[in-house]
Amino acid sequence: MRLFRKGSSGREVRDIQARLVSAGFLAVGGEELADGYFGDETDRAVRGFQQSKGLHADGIVGPDTWPALVDASRTLGSRFLYLREPQLRGDDVTDLKRRLNSLGFYSGKEDGVLDHDTALAVEQFQRNSGLIADGIVGTRTVDALLRLSRVTKPTSVASVRESERGLPTGGIAGRRVMLDPGHGYPPDPGAVGPTGLRESEVAESIVERLGALLVDSSATVFYSRRHAESLDVDERAAFAHKQSVELMVSIHLNSSVAPVARGASCYYFSSGHYRSPYGYRLANHVQDALVDGCGLLDCRAHGRAYRLLRETRMPVVIVEPAFITNPGEEALLKEADFLDRVAGAIAGATDKYFSGVKACGEE
Ligand SMILES: [Zn+2]
Repeated sequence: MRLFRKGSSGREVRDIQARLVSAGFLAVGGEELADGYFGDETDRAVRGFQQSKGLHADGIVGPDTWPALVDASRTLGSRFLYLREPQLRGDDVTDLKRRLNSLGFYSGKEDGVLDHDTALAVEQFQRNSGLIADGIVGTRTVDALLRLSRVTKPTSVASVRESERGLPTGGIAGRRVMLDPGHGYPPDPGAVGPTGLRESEVAESIVERLGALLVDSSATVFYSRRHAESLDVDERAAFAHKQSVELMVSIHLNSSVAPVARGASCYYFSSGHYRSPYGYRLANHVQDALVDGCGLLDCRAHGRAYRLLRETRMPVVIVEPAFITNPGEEALLKEADFLDRVAGAIAGATDKYFSGVKACGEE
């Protein structure tokens, strides 16, 4: 999609502003609203919204922020919710799952996707509340939910249940893993380094090495895309579901307008009170391995609600081993030896994850 940022104007900007108003981030009656102009006020609102959603707060409305804005304009009770294909999604679904989880009905990870677990939880809730157990969230079910649920519980049953279900043990052999090199050139190079190195191509080189190492450990490896192919986030998620993979590792590189910014970071799914125990464990293992094994600065593992993390049912970790915009790190990213070490670090962490090794900070 087109990107909208400070300086943009027109019909689409009016639409963005209307959604920011309904999400409570932009005041009604502002000057920019009347003009449909994306100025400082709208920029502030977009950044505030992005921050609240765990998105990168860059003030740009693009493929991550736009769907989040669409989701945010839905509230529980504004439509019927039930299991269907394609699955219903939105902030109303997140709210529903959060409320069911806080009542002890396990409805799955607190993302915005109405899946099988959610439908079962709805039926259970309805049976327990003396309602017709049809799995359809209509007026009566919403009323009962709003009456009963408190969403202030610090620990959600979803995190607890997923941990109880058991994080993987028994090793990496035979596990189905999808490797996802970010972006895809042409037409999307991702971030570009000072001498023109492309994020999409470095990601491919790392993925190629990582894949070979995982195959050596007898994992079954899938690749979301091949060289010079480009896919959007939905296609990557759909392919991972189709192949029933148990884990997806997505490789990107970080970028900044500040050339001095450097170091490694990882991202796992987290939203509200929910934190994916799987993602947390793997991301921290990867982070430790990159810092200890490759001598990279520790920019830490972070919980985020990025689209790829939100729209996938299996645990997904996004790894950004270095800043391609940092001249020193860009130079390293051109060295085969460095890429081998990065791939080795991620492979070692993946092995630890499937072997049931706890990460530091886990209860
Ligand atoms: Zn990227």
